[in-house]
Amino acid sequence: MSDETKTGGCLCGKIRYEASGEPAHTMLCHCKICQKTSGSALSTVALFQKTQVKLLSGEMSSYAYQSDSDNTLEINFCPTCGSPVMLTMSHMPDLVSIKAGSFDDTSWYKPTVNIWTDSRQPWVKLDPEVTNLPQQ
Ligand SMILES: [Zn+2]
Ligand SMILES: [Zn+2]
Repeated sequence: MSDETKTGGCLCGKIRYEASGEPAHTMLCHCKICQKTSGSALSTVALFQKTQVKLLSGEMSSYAYQSDSDNTLEINFCPTCGSPVMLTMSHMPDLVSIKAGSFDDTSWYKPTVNIWTDSRQPWVKLDPEVTNLPQQ
């Protein structure tokens, strides 16, 4: 594991951030809410300690909602281009979840957990080599 700094941002480039070191977890979430907020089959995230992450430029808009497991989550996105960039979670206040597709270089990313596989799209194949959780 390296201490290299990973950089990323939104599509239009107004939001820029950096994350130092390695993420605590990398996961794919198949919950219905992530399907809505990502406009896709799942969301691809890397969880970092908040102290590892620094917002370099831009100001994010946010939207708070209750998750299926009744925690308050807040999605942070670019008000200009709409790209979702980060997510904060009331039950894990020290962590920030970064949308992995927003990193400039995603070659290091490898998911180790699938969550909410009960609600995944039927055509999504699960990797049997990673941990697969039917719910959270
Ligand atoms: Zn943007
Ligand atoms: Zn989710």
